[in-house]
Amino acid sequence: MRANNLHMADIAHMVHQQTDLDAHGREGAVLIAKGDGVHVVDSEGRRYIEAMAGLWCASLGFSEKRLADAAYKQLLELPYYHTFFQKGHEPSVRLAEKLVEMAPGDLSHVMFQCSGSEANDAAIKVIWYYNNLRGKPAKKKLIGRIRGYHGNTVATASLSGQPHMQADFDLPYGDRFLHISNPHYYRFHEAGETERDFSARMAAELEALIEREGADTIAAFFAEPVQGGGGAITPPEGYFDLIQPILKKHDILFVADEVICGFGRTGNLWGSETYGITPDILTCAKQLTAAYQPLSATLISRPIQEALVAGSKKHGSFGHGFTYGGHPVACAVGLETLAIYEERDMVGHVRAVAPAFLNGLGAFRDHPLVGDVRGVGLIAGVELMADKASRTPFAPSRKVGVLVQNKCHEAGLIVRAIGDRIAFTPPLIITEAEIQDMCHRFREGLDAAWAELGPEARA
Ligand code: PMP
Repeated sequence: MRANNLHMADIAHMVHQQTDLDAHGREGAVLIAKGDGVHVVDSEGRRYIEAMAGLWCASLGFSEKRLADAAYKQLLELPYYHTFFQKGHEPSVRLAEKLVEMAPGDLSHVMFQCSGSEANDAAIKVIWYYNNLRGKPAKKKLIGRIRGYHGNTVATASLSGQPHMQADFDLPYGDRFLHISNPHYYRFHEAGETERDFSARMAAELEALIEREGADTIAAFFAEPVQGGGGAITPPEGYFDLIQPILKKHDILFVADEVICGFGRTGNLWGSETYGITPDILTCAKQLTAAYQPLSATLISRPIQEALVAGSKKHGSFGHGFTYGGHPVACAVGLETLAIYEERDMVGHVRAVAPAFLNGLGAFRDHPLVGDVRGVGLIAGVELMADKASRTPFAPSRKVGVLVQNKCHEAGLIVRAIGDRIAFTPPLIITEAEIQDMCHRFREGLDAAWAELGPEARA
C-alpha cells in the first residue's frame, strides 16, 4: 500500500482509466512526477526506462523543450480559436497543408480532433454520410478485426475487437459492426501453414463475410498496419496485398488507423508505406504532437471531400465538429514536432537503431518463458508461452504477462502486458546504448518472473 498524502488523495478521488479499480483502491497507483529523455521518475524518486513511450506516443521522450516553447509562444499569440462557421486560424491550416504533403496516396483534406478515438469516430460519421450522399444508404456496416483497437467511444469501441472493453458496456452497439479474425500468424497458424497461406486464409474469410452480408451493406474496413493494443502484432506476409483488391472489388473503403504507426514507428513515415497500403481515409494522433498536446487528424481522399462539398450544396452546413478540434496550441506543437522529425531525420534514426532493438529483443527467444518475438522498426511484441514446442499458452488465470510486467517494473523498466504478450514501443529517440539497458532490465524482469513461477511454470 502506497500511503503518502498524494496517494491517499488519488485513491479517494480518482477513477483511473483502464485500471483494476479494486486493486487501485487497495494498493494505490504509481504516480509519475517528471521525465527526461526516455526516462520517467515516479513521485517516490524511482527512475524507469519508459519502453512504451507512455501509451505508444511520447516519441520525442519527456523533456523536449522546443515543444514546450512552441506551446507557450502560441498561448501568447492566440490561445484558442475554433474552425466552425467558416472561421479558422493559421496553425491548423499550416498543419493540414503539411499532413497532406506527407500523406500516402491521394489524401487531400484534413479534419482535426483531440484523440485517436475521435479521429476514428469522425471517420465513421464521414463514411456513413458519404454513402448517404452517394445514394447508398444501406451500405453502412464496418469491418474491424478481433484484437483490433480503434478507440473508446461508443462507435470505436464497437468497431474494436476487444471483448473486455465491450461486454460491460453493452457493446458492440447496433448491428453495423462486423469482425474478422486476428491475423496473428504465430498464435493461429495451422501445422505446415506458411505465412502466405495464412494470409490467404484471412483474406478468404474477409471475402466470405462480404458475400454473406452483401457488399451493398458494407461501407468500410478499418485496420491498424501493426495491431497495437491487440499485442504489437505485425501482419503476416502478403496480408494487406491480398485484402486490398477484395475491398476495391466490393467498393469498400480502407481506413488505415495510423494512430500508433504514424510518424516513423515502423521505420517509414507511415505504416501504410511499410505494408503497401493505399488508404481512402487515414487517421493519426499520438506521435503527431509527440503527445505533448492532445491532437488527432482524419485525412480523407479527394472524392470523399468532393462529396462533402456537394452535400453542403444540398443540405447546408456540414453538421459535425468539436470545440477543441484543431486547437491552435496543439497544432503549433504538432508543426514543431514534424519540424523536429525532419531536422533530426527521425525515420532514419528509427531505421538505424531498429536492428539493435529487434535483435536485442529477438535474443529472448532462447528464454524459457518466451515463445516468439516479432516486430518492425521500434515496435515489438514478446509472446510468453507455457510450452514453446506445442505453442501452448499459459492459462489466463495465471496472469503470467502481468507478473513479467511487474518484475520489469521492479527492474526499472516500464513495459505493457497485453495478455501474455509484452509490448515494447520506446520513444523514437532511443539510442543503442539505451536499447541495451532496456534489454538488460528486461532480462532481469523475465528471470525474476521465471524464478517466481518455479518448476511448475510449464504445468
Ligand atoms: N487507434 C489506435 C490504433 C490506438 O492505439 C488508439 C489508442 N491506443 C486509439 C485509436 C485511440 O486513441 P485515443 O486513446 O487517443 O482516443
